[in-house]
Amino acid sequence: MSIRWEAVIGLEVHCQLLTREKLFCGCPTTFGGAVNDHTCPICLGFPGVMPVLNGEAVALALTAGLALDCRVRSPSVFARKHYFYPDLPKGYQVTQYEAPILEFGHLAIEVDGASRDIGIRRIHMEEDAGKSIHADSGATLVDLNRAGVPLIEIVSDPDLRSADEAVAYLKALHEIVRFTGVCDGNMEEGSFRCDANVSVRPVGQRTLGTRTELKNMNTFRGVQRAVEYEIARHIQVLEDGGRIDQETRLWDENAGRSRAMRGKEDAHDYRYFPEPDLPPLVVAPDRVEAVRAALPELPRAIRRRLVEDHGLSTYDAAVLTGEPALVRWFDAAVAAHPNAKALCNWLTTELLGRVPVSALAACPVTPERLARLVALIDDQTISGKIAKTIFEKMLLSGETPDAIIDAEGLRQVTDTGAIEATVRAVVAANPAQVAQFRAGKTTVRGFFIGQIMRQSGGKLNPALVNEILDRLLAQATDQET
Ligand code: ADP
Ligand code: MG
Ligand code: ZN
Repeated sequence: MSIRWEAVIGLEVHCQLLTREKLFCGCPTTFGGAVNDHTCPICLGFPGVMPVLNGEAVALALTAGLALDCRVRSPSVFARKHYFYPDLPKGYQVTQYEAPILEFGHLAIEVDGASRDIGIRRIHMEEDAGKSIHADSGATLVDLNRAGVPLIEIVSDPDLRSADEAVAYLKALHEIVRFTGVCDGNMEEGSFRCDANVSVRPVGQRTLGTRTELKNMNTFRGVQRAVEYEIARHIQVLEDGGRIDQETRLWDENAGRSRAMRGKEDAHDYRYFPEPDLPPLVVAPDRVEAVRAALPELPRAIRRRLVEDHGLSTYDAAVLTGEPALVRWFDAAVAAHPNAKALCNWLTTELLGRVPVSALAACPVTPERLARLVALIDDQTISGKIAKTIFEKMLLSGETPDAIIDAEGLRQVTDTGAIEATVRAVVAANPAQVAQFRAGKTTVRGFFIGQIMRQSGGKLNPALVNEILDRLLAQATDQET
């Protein structure tokens, strides 16, 4: 009988904190800049300098941890983690080791409609390393702009059981750090990076199998493929009678496979010891409570609110929570006019069809103006069709819907007398079609509607046009018989 295997995955996620300054010095954290421009004696690791902990970074770490239901550890302790690498100027990284600032959290994920709780083992603060640039000449150059930028590392328990679950967890985490303003979540620029620890074991076995650690995935899709590949590779090796070595492997996105990078270091290889230049970090209970009280609404709660309070579909709720800015935009629009469904449709199909989310803030169609447009449809000042034309003009001219309607005389006609006059004229002018209708060819009704709308420039209220046309056609038929 062949063995049934179970995959076990734990993720280590590095998030760059959205502070203006680095973790232990005042250098800017902005991406790019001239090479080595954002550096000073502290982040270059000159001898004799003293680090000063950035309080803003502590606040963001606490925010992330409390959003993930972690317990705050006070005091927490910074430690030196030694390794030799050209982009690490001090020869050690300042991180937290035995006493991380946050522990024992969890995050709910949803896969195939089922919800599961994934444990967060720890979140610790640390500084980023610099970047090695491999030049065409064969030389390796070093850019230390990123050295000393504040990070948190969020370490999960080995609770994930498939690549799908790993990606669901990563997306849930990504969403939370972005909605709390802890991290911009940019995977391409490396401000949100993930290492995946993967092992397999026979179903029913309690002890964990030997794991490998995957690095270098830059997209959710990459994580999905890498984890799937690695699970299959483990199973293959074991079924062929081989053995998995604990090692760090590099995911090669183009080749679609992982390859061995280095053997796994043990903690003792790093010669950890407490950072003597930084005192233990004490976080007072009232500070914890202040951060907790200031936590913004989290994406899951927002989705629930959009569905339960505003009657949106779960699909629409998920689209809106794809971006914090979209939720803010939508909430502002609904506050101005409470037709949530219509506003969501206009926003997600019409507006986002023309304007990328990143440009919404500068778009002349503001939440208030779109709300006004929908309000004008709802009170029958304009038809839905005319509204599309007005919408285009709002985008191009930057005018308000009312100004466009007034300037172009686009107000919908709801006066039954006026509508009836137009309908009557069209019916009278087309006796041949009336005869066809009488003979039972009811599809010519569409012809009449088309004629009426063309003559009136689409401004007649469609419901009233339908009602009056039906009445007049019925009369014409009655008169004949
Ligand atoms: P290290 O100190 O070597 O980084 P940790 O024990 O802190 O190792 O674990 C790092 C990550 O690996 C965690 O997310 C953890 O859940 C995961 N992990 C640990 N052991 C296994 C295993 N056997 N299989 C899969 N994931 C594991
Ligand atoms: Mg680790
Ligand atoms: Zn500096």
